[in-house]
Amino acid sequence: MTPSHGRKLYPIIALLLVLLIAAGGYIMLLEMQQKPSYSSTTAESIPETTITEKPETGLADLGHPPNWTTLDLWQDTITHDDFLYLLTEIYTTDDSWKRFISIYPDHAIIRTDTSIPGATYRLNFASVISEASPNRNWNSVGELPPGTADKPLAGVHIAIDPGHIGGDYAKTEARWFQIGTHPPVKEGDMTLLTGKIIKEQLVKLGAKVYLIRGSNNPVNPKRPDDYRDVALAKAASQGITDEKTINSYQNKLFYRTGEIRERARRVNLAFNPDLVLCLHFNAEAWDDPANPSLTVRNHYHVLLHGALTSSELAHDDERYEMLVKILQRSHEEEKSLGVYMARSIATATELPAYEYLNASHRARQIEDVPGLWLRNLLANRLYQCPVIFLEPYVMNNQEVHNRIQLGDYQGTMLIGGNERKSIFREYADAVVAALEQYYLDYRIIYKPIGQ
Ligand SMILES: [Zn+2]
Repeated sequence: MTPSHGRKLYPIIALLLVLLIAAGGYIMLLEMQQKPSYSSTTAESIPETTITEKPETGLADLGHPPNWTTLDLWQDTITHDDFLYLLTEIYTTDDSWKRFISIYPDHAIIRTDTSIPGATYRLNFASVISEASPNRNWNSVGELPPGTADKPLAGVHIAIDPGHIGGDYAKTEARWFQIGTHPPVKEGDMTLLTGKIIKEQLVKLGAKVYLIRGSNNPVNPKRPDDYRDVALAKAASQGITDEKTINSYQNKLFYRTGEIRERARRVNLAFNPDLVLCLHFNAEAWDDPANPSLTVRNHYHVLLHGALTSSELAHDDERYEMLVKILQRSHEEEKSLGVYMARSIATATELPAYEYLNASHRARQIEDVPGLWLRNLLANRLYQCPVIFLEPYVMNNQEVHNRIQLGDYQGTMLIGGNERKSIFREYADAVVAALEQYYLDYRIIYKPIGQ
């Protein structure tokens, strides 16, 4: 958050910052909700009044002012109807986009830097549907050259993002818990183990795979101390002076915001993926972090990018990033693949689909597909290609906890009366099976003459 403004504007900017940061706090609560286990704040306990903050300016945490002229790439490439559909049915949750975007029959006027009155960008619509692919650095399944039956993913660039950091950082990032004297559960270690298995299998199917991290170390070269000034500014704008809160801001800017931004920066810059897989395990809330309890609840869900809230749309950078997604037509590929992924995870895990309650405020369900939801997360917004964000298993479910304690193993073991793979292989196999089937079904598969 480093807006550069004239001194005369300082009181106004200070007020706007307060509003922005209040909204930022709400977004953080939403992100906590996705992993509610480590906090007593649960999804359903977030009071709805917190979403009434409607800042008219600002950037997301550590966001940069966008260069709106880059949208010139997509002038005259999307029709009015396609734009309106994606904006209203996929990327937003209510009518609040009308504060920033005005739609006319042949163009849209988009507010750019909201701290400058009247600053807008004009996007002209295409008059006819174009057969050409929009400008983008990734290939949809239909754009790939033919694959083969044993290498249906030949040449597909897939980045795997094992969620969180794990290891020595697991406690700091609040992705750590321990039941009794059992070894502690660290989500960042589990996602890495799963990611390594997925990578090995995808390479065999011909994919070019980049594992975004290969150890329990941050990709982000910065540390909490590097975020001291940002944390102080954020706290000051909220009237907060206690060191504990400021430290928690520094930590979150390091392990969450800064880490995710650095992963996306590297992948977008150097790898140009056709797809990013964000791997996570879910968890349910418990009351006492010092004495976590196990739950009977267990479920899966798969997230696609979309469903920006009113507060998120008000951030200039988030609004710009949403427009890039719309203009690149990421959703079409994400949805097709997401359907395969949700079904494959449901079959492999035999889990019920997770349902967001009060969904309209932070997530939208993809019609008729259990467990497939739209949500705006930093990780699925920043990667400049389709992103599949996975949330199978509740780590503090009794059976899941038992399976985590068993670690990874080959073959199957008898668990609850059924032969089961290790939880990591079951997860990985489900992801790989979905990808294999998707590319076999939608890609042209080359068959040598005589076969
Ligand atoms: Zn996670």
